[in-house]
Amino acid sequence: MGRAFVYVILGGGVSAGYAALEFARRGGYSRGELCIISEEAVAPYERPALSKGYLLPEGAARLPGFHTCVGANDELLTPKWYKEQGIELILGTKIISADVRRKALVTAAGETISYKTLIIATGARALKLEEFGIQGSDAENICYLRNIHDADKLVNAMKSCSGGNAVVIGGGYIGMECAAALVTNKIRVTMVFPEKHCMARLFTPRIAEYYENYYTLKGVTFVKGTVLTSFEKDATGKVTAVILKDGKRLRADMVVVGIGIRANTSLFEGQLVVSMVNDGIKVNGQMQTSESSVYAVGDVAAFPIKLFDGDVRRLEHVDSARRTARHAVSAILEPAKTRDINYLPFFYSRVFTLSWQFYGDNVGEVVHFGEFTNSSPRFGAYWVNKGRITGAFLEGGSREEYEAISVAVGRKAKVTDMAELGKQGLAFAIQE
Ligand code: FAD
Ligand code: NDP
Repeated sequence: MGRAFVYVILGGGVSAGYAALEFARRGGYSRGELCIISEEAVAPYERPALSKGYLLPEGAARLPGFHTCVGANDELLTPKWYKEQGIELILGTKIISADVRRKALVTAAGETISYKTLIIATGARALKLEEFGIQGSDAENICYLRNIHDADKLVNAMKSCSGGNAVVIGGGYIGMECAAALVTNKIRVTMVFPEKHCMARLFTPRIAEYYENYYTLKGVTFVKGTVLTSFEKDATGKVTAVILKDGKRLRADMVVVGIGIRANTSLFEGQLVVSMVNDGIKVNGQMQTSESSVYAVGDVAAFPIKLFDGDVRRLEHVDSARRTARHAVSAILEPAKTRDINYLPFFYSRVFTLSWQFYGDNVGEVVHFGEFTNSSPRFGAYWVNKGRITGAFLEGGSREEYEAISVAVGRKAKVTDMAELGKQGLAFAIQE
């Protein structure tokens, strides 16, 4: 028993939605030849909304309002849209094994789905505390955040915790965005993470200190340089406190955990070349894996970044998911016309009324600039390596200013005097 398609998109997240739009725009398939297979029960949606609009106490974002591709100010791809386009949505379906030599996938229900061309868009899963030797993260008031199901659990936990205490584990993207959402929902927050500063992999200590001070003014408490070791629970299994390595006990009505992700590559282990550096499925500039009929996009793909001299990276951000997905479809349908991807890494976040963007790579010497103030902040940093701009960060910029820093990074603007660069600040990028 089985079904056969020409094109199968495995995964129903951000990149799946953008790949579908690109297929529809280019034509290149007939009704019934293309499907999306997703473990999730709903059509692809803009995952970033889950830690922002979805968590608002009033006027929260809900489906169908944030299906892809609304996040890139494009069409809203509702289930009706897929039907009209002749794209089959196979939802609530988990693929449990894949055979790239036979070009076949097997669902949890035992159905075989075959393809001529496969796009792997399986994204990533949240790391669990169990993987760090801490038991009990299945309690009803411990929340992770990767999909809409997790987001609903988080919303319910927040509703039953108004005026109470939340402990946020992890000082990365999830930790920072969820802490802000919890505060907005009138919940007291303590953040716990192992590093000296939040967002340690991207922010400089100076930038991190700015956000930490801002959060502190909003009532957030930081417990840095330590990790949790166990939970205290009541008779019903609900967590009541978090115990830290240094012995400290933090009262908790709920816990949010954001301790990183792992790319969902396991179906293809031993079948496709995996990038050793960052655990992604290795692809070329056409997003093609070591097997010519299989492409990989989004969080799961490790692809060469021209700007970094072809260095292979696995990026965990939405812009990369959107662009790699569209690029793969272009490469599949028009291989001769599709050049190797030329991607400028772009990350962003929005918390409270703050908003920042980052372009490039945070390597080299750093120069900060601008006003690190609480009212109307407008500050940033350049990273300079071998006399060239490699990365740029800006908080509180206008559209034109963000555009200017992205261009400066994309062109690897030359820097002759670091002190002068600091003095010029944003003006350096704008004059470029
Ligand atoms: P995903 O969107 O994760 O989709 C993967 C899909 O594959 C899912 O539908 C999953 O169910 C499915 N799947 C996996 N395995 C199987 C299987 N075996 N069988 C069937 N289906 C399977 N990035 C930013 O740049 N800015 C942001 O503000 C931002 N906010 C975020 C907020 C949250 C809460 C989260 C979780 C992520 C955020 N990101 C953000 C990251 C961004 O959402 C991801 O980079 C992006 O979703 C990756 O897209 P993807 O298609 O590769 O994977
Ligand atoms: P991140 O990798 O951003 O951050 C994980 C944080 O948890 C780091 O501070 C990490 O420290 C810390 N950590 C690791 N292990 C432990 C531990 N045992 N105890 C306590 N802290 C620990 O991952 P997130 O979970 O925050 O985000 C998940 C994914 O969602 C990412 O792909 C991210 O890109 C995406 N996302 C992106 C957003 C955006 O771009 N605006 C918003 C929300 C999510 P260390 O660095 O030392 O490992």
